[in-house]
Order: sequence, then C-alpha cells, then structure tokens
Amino acid sequence: MKLNIVEYPDKRLREKSSKVERFDADLYKLLDAMYDMMMSSNGIGLAAIQVAIAKEVLILSIPDEEGEQSKDNLMEIINPVITYKNGDTTYQEGCLSVPGFYEDIKRFDTISLSYQDRDGNSKNLNAEGLLSIAIQHECDHLNGILFIDKLSYSRRKKFEKEYKKAQKEKKNSK
Ligand SMILES: [Zn+2]
Repeated sequence: MKLNIVEYPDKRLREKSSKVERFDADLYKLLDAMYDMMMSSNGIGLAAIQVAIAKEVLILSIPDEEGEQSKDNLMEIINPVITYKNGDTTYQEGCLSVPGFYEDIKRFDTISLSYQDRDGNSKNLNAEGLLSIAIQHECDHLNGILFIDKLSYSRRKKFEKEYKKAQKEKKNSK
C-alpha cells in the first residue's frame, strides 16, 4: 500500500471522515502503512484523511522521556468520540499536512475518549498533556479542521503569506 501525505491547501483535508464499519484486513493494511508513513515523516500523529482516506482512523506515537518512539507506544484509534474535556493548555503544534510551520494553539488540557481498536473492541481513555493535545489535533482532522484554523485573523493572514512563499520556493528548487 503506497501512501502520500496530502498537504494544505489540498481540499481533501476539508473532507469529513466516515465511521469504520469493517475491521478487516484492509483496515490492518491501512494502519500498518500509516505507521510506516508517520515514522518515516518524523510525525507523532497521523489521521487517515492526511493520506486521502476519509475514514475515522488515527494513529499516535508519543515519544517517551528519552524522546524514543518505540512501537510499544503506538496507539491505533478508530471511530473516536471525545466524551469529556476540561481545562486549557497551549502547545506549539505542527502538522505533516502543513510542513514547516509551528504555531501555539490552545486546547483542552484533559480529555476522555471512547474509541475502538483495530479489532473493533470498545475502549476508553483518559488523556492529559501531549497525548491529549495530539488526540484533539487528530480528531479535528476527522472533521476537516486544521490547527491553522484556530489562529487569530492576523496570525492566519501572516501564515498564508509565509506558507505560499515557502511552497513557491519548494517548487522552484525541485
Ligand atoms: Zn495534523
């Protein structure tokens, strides 16, 4: 399975993902290919829509204290629903679909999540800190929302200008 990262401003990133109903070999293949893609891109999270598949599938690998992303830390989250959110926190976020840009984004500090694993088993999770932030970022992708949508009007305008310029330079250097 060959995947490519969809980059902003590609309209596909605005699609709303639909629920996974079949927990079968195709889903396993997608999850495994997403893992390889995330690791080779040095990401800590990836939603299926970022590889142009509009399904409620996301994966996360939060680095441990040594900064290592071992496969034991891999989380596979299917059909997530955030059931509780509380507090606020700010973190400098980036996104594999918005390469090269990092912005401070305000999110809930603590969340609870219900979801399914790759076999369709129902799970619940309480998360705080970076895990909570990453889950909220990836869940937004499933609704067609990007972290840059949360910027103030003036910061967003500045971003659009800089991003366009960086993309043009990238094209010219190819
Ligand atoms: Zn993202």
